Amino acid sequence: MPTRLSQFVNVTPTRENYLRGVVLFGLNSASYKFALAKSLLELGDGRREAISLVDLAEPFSRHVCEHLRRAPRQATSVGSRFLDACRSFNDGSLDHDRLIAVTVKLGFNNVIDAFHALRQADLPVRFFVDERRSASPGIRLTGDLFALAARGSAQALAEVEARWRLVETAWSLEISRSLVAYDSATEQLVPASHRAPLVSARDALNGYQKGACFYCYGPVSTVAKGLGLAEVDHLFPHHLQRLGLAADLDQVWNLVLACQGCNRGPGGKSDKTPHLDYVARLEQRNEYLIESHHPLRETLMAQTGLTAPERHRFLQDKYYMSRTNQIAVWRTAAVGDPAL
Ligand SMILES: [Zn+2]
Repeated sequence: MPTRLSQFVNVTPTRENYLRGVVLFGLNSASYKFALAKSLLELGDGRREAISLVDLAEPFSRHVCEHLRRAPRQATSVGSRFLDACRSFNDGSLDHDRLIAVTVKLGFNNVIDAFHALRQADLPVRFFVDERRSASPGIRLTGDLFALAARGSAQALAEVEARWRLVETAWSLEISRSLVAYDSATEQLVPASHRAPLVSARDALNGYQKGACFYCYGPVSTVAKGLGLAEVDHLFPHHLQRLGLAADLDQVWNLVLACQGCNRGPGGKSDKTPHLDYVARLEQRNEYLIESHHPLRETLMAQTGLTAPERHRFLQDKYYMSRTNQIAVWRTAAVGDPAL
């Protein structure tokens, strides 16, 4: 058995991370999230807590109009009548007062409701409170937003803007974002090449897992066309690499065999951050392969570090990166016996 290494340190996301979570992984991947995030960061620089819908409509519509000029195709959950009004404002056929009126009426449908909703987790902070049903309809900015803005909103604004541009470029290419890769060397969006076939990885990885899913220990098969064929899963979600937030997740150190349910079932891991227990297990797996002089030994050492403490730090860094970008943590119950 490998030497017992020190424990991994859990990570508590910061407010900045929560905002990143909203922008990257919130419900309804659409322009409005970016426009609302930018508006909130701007408004957070002021001292006013109560923001009327008219006050909010100004920065919100300004950001949407600006982006429509550079990228006519903006996916959004709000009605196209709002986007049409923005287009009319851009071509001079609608005045600013009318744009604000249309934004107040149509621009925030589902936008304010959905802002704090993540796909897999409830956001534990609130950047504003919805007061649209009060006597003076609007939103109330919270201490969390002011604290975020007080730490400097320039960086956060730049990040939101970068991500907005990234996704609208994908929309304008009329390809699904899942088919777009970010090439950090050239800072360009590139069509994702087909992932290298990983079929043979099943045999290489199964030696350690002994026919059991990495997460739930349920039985998996490595026989092609067999029932319950193991899926080659990226422990740290490959999604982070597709978004340009991480490199080299498509390497053997990050690959495990999982049953279909754990990998992509309704309650499966999908793009979520793996629980620390799984990170510790991945470390154990990699150390086992290295210490047993497995054919993958040199590969694993080249990819993650020459010494065990270096490799530990490597995984801790990856966990930090994953947790701070993808807040939702996933774990599942064991259905098989971990001791086998
Ligand atoms: Zn499983």
